[in-house]
Amino acid sequence: DPERVIAPDRKPEDIDAALRPQRLEEFVGQESARANLRVFVEAAKSRGEALDHVLFFGPPGLGKTTLAQIVARELGVGFRATSGPVIAKAGDLAAILTNLEPNDVLFIDEIHRLAPAVEEILYPAMEDRALDIMIGEGPSARSVKIDLPPFTLVGATTRSGLLTTPLRDRFGIPIRLNFYTPEELEQVIARAARLLVMPLEADGAAEIARRSRGTPRIAGRLLRRVRDFASVAGNARIDAVAADRALMRLEVDALGLDAMDRRYLGVIAGDYAGGPVGVETLAAALSEPRDTIEEVIEPYLIQIGLLARTARGRQLNGKAWAHLGLDAPRPATD
Ligand code: ADP
Repeated sequence: DPERVIAPDRKPEDIDAALRPQRLEEFVGQESARANLRVFVEAAKSRGEALDHVLFFGPPGLGKTTLAQIVARELGVGFRATSGPVIAKAGDLAAILTNLEPNDVLFIDEIHRLAPAVEEILYPAMEDRALDIMIGEGPSARSVKIDLPPFTLVGATTRSGLLTTPLRDRFGIPIRLNFYTPEELEQVIARAARLLVMPLEADGAAEIARRSRGTPRIAGRLLRRVRDFASVAGNARIDAVAADRALMRLEVDALGLDAMDRRYLGVIAGDYAGGPVGVETLAAALSEPRDTIEEVIEPYLIQIGLLARTARGRQLNGKAWAHLGLDAPRPATD
């Protein structure tokens, strides 16, 4: 749904570039990821080698692209970005790879969506820095081997399980990104407000942080919408009350849930007595693709304890009933 203000995927109005941290130091949160990257980057730099291939995985909007850029900058090497669905043919990837400078970072977003024929030429490229490509067709076809410069592939995906095993195994540095705490998001928001020259009070930042679903991209977007409401209302300072008013107008509730989340919870509560109910059934009931449900709606509901994924399907927790203002059904006695 393109109207979802809390959709974590990229939208054109997200002026990401201006707010992107440039250095590992400026990057808030993800402590263990940052600490590990710092060590591996320093080691590669001191040896003058390409960094080992890195896989970032975790929900959208948590900073995978940002970290990939930071890694290149910290290494002092070039950065080239593309994405799985954009690379149509093996030859397209071959062209990108043969144009890299030594030790460059090649970032492939949504790497789980590479076409199988494209993915196959990545294996020898990652492992042996070689390209095996077929030239010509029919009886005159022959295979040519091309040496590549050393390079670092940085892949990003929402779940590492989406990758094929041979691809996943070729990443020496797999790094999981987690949802941010409200305190971490407060720092992200305060920093963005400074860059946007917004008169944001600490309690205003805290209010937005609590309702940003643990996701910096959503925090940035809500911040800009709050600014719009505040400037139209003529508020000189943006405090928790002003932020709350704006977020209520956007239908983002106290937990950061929007109409879509509440509809999802409402269907499980109303039509399936709280579950368990299978994801396919929910996808049909909500007319939403299964991917959207599994990657966008559910992770945060699970994270904040409203929902459980069980072997028999999705099930609401007591907290979800309370949030919906409904009584949980009494457990069946059989
Ligand atoms: P992903 O690639 O995981 O979808 P991005 O790297 O595009 O996410 O980040 C989304 C937005 O959130 C960007 O505007 C980025 O600047 C901001 N952001 C992400 N992580 C952080 C962070 N740790 N600190 C500050 N801003 C962040």
